[in-house]
Amino acid sequence: MAILQGECPKCGKRILHVNVEQIVGMVDGSSKARCLSYSCIHCNTVLGVQIDPRSKPRLRSNKPAPAS
Ligand SMILES: [Zn+2]
Repeated sequence: MAILQGECPKCGKRILHVNVEQIVGMVDGSSKARCLSYSCIHCNTVLGVQIDPRSKPRLRSNKPAPAS
């Protein structure tokens, strides 16, 4: 079987570019994780969503605000 280039399941065009959007995963109405969504640039069908691998929600730097 030949290796196919990815095609959009909706418009059938090859996926050479995707729109990447940063979105927020919600659990029970509160935001839990940064996610990335990938959508077809031709028809805007969402092709996939994943947790942003770079996001480390617990690692937010907690700099003390300068008292001025
Ligand atoms: Zn498409």
